[in-house]
Amino acid sequence: MEVTASSPGKINLGLWVGALESSGYHPLLTAFQAVDLWDFVTARSDDQMSLEVKGSVDCGLVPHDERNVAWQAARALAKHCGKEEAVALQISKNIPVAGGMAGGSADAAATLLALDALWECGLDDSTLQQLASTLGSDVPFSLHGQAAIGRDRGDALTAVAIEKPLHFVLCPSEGALSTGAVYAEYDRLSPRASVPTAIDPAFLAAWQAGDAEALAPLIHNDLQPAAISLMPELETLATQIEKAGALRAAVSGSGPTMWGLALNAEHAGEIAQALRADGITTWVTQSSLENPRLRLSR
Ligand code: ATP
Repeated sequence: MEVTASSPGKINLGLWVGALESSGYHPLLTAFQAVDLWDFVTARSDDQMSLEVKGSVDCGLVPHDERNVAWQAARALAKHCGKEEAVALQISKNIPVAGGMAGGSADAAATLLALDALWECGLDDSTLQQLASTLGSDVPFSLHGQAAIGRDRGDALTAVAIEKPLHFVLCPSEGALSTGAVYAEYDRLSPRASVPTAIDPAFLAAWQAGDAEALAPLIHNDLQPAAISLMPELETLATQIEKAGALRAAVSGSGPTMWGLALNAEHAGEIAQALRADGITTWVTQSSLENPRLRLSR
């Protein structure tokens, strides 16, 4: 039997980062929004572990062995469920690699879902979430999908009910930024003393209602100055995205993918057209309102 699971990429509509703690982590408050751009993981039983990667994005940086977070997810689930079987994993990537959109985390989450089904472990959501949090701070959200507020390391999630999707353009940059390097630059620049305790109610209301005009001035990413400091061309790209008509442009997570907020799907198409005319690779997408767990196929 073969099982395929998928998990979406994300952007952070808001990201507030506190100063480095003695634990080695930064406390966060973030508004996670899954977007309609999915990685797929197909799993089947085999004599030995193997991992294949292909996709519509450049996968040059993606490891094919135990360094791959999907492989680590398979190991973690096997250990938890007492399974000794090996599996062949096939990853089909559509989320930009090392782009701040949690592509690796999506593969880990999809692997947990696929193997839970293949091995008939029957794990409940909270056990899967617990396993996910051992694999990386963004993996719990990749498993959750849709929209959520993340606290602590981004792994303590509160679901947000979305009434209407938002529409975006995505501009994946040529280069990659290491998440660790961006946080180190953030620490060097000027980390904020403390993280806000809650998302501004006006932000939350605009996000839930899909009210792009109300949300635009409230969009915020504490890591953006650090990402721009390491990759100054991102500032020019932000200006180009806004000049093309986006209500706001921002770095996704630690970057370097940038996203622009549009009024609606048609407006996103117009912005993308203007950016492509300037030679900038641009994808149109929107908030994903689907639950990854319900997309399994056998
Ligand atoms: P995040 O937003 O969670 O910080 P990201 O989207 O910036 O992550 P990823 O695409 O997850 O970055 O990749 C970061 C690095 O992780 C890559 O450079 C690669 O070496 C490594 N990696 C391990 N497994 C994977 C995977 N399945 N897909 C992509 N990268 C992986």
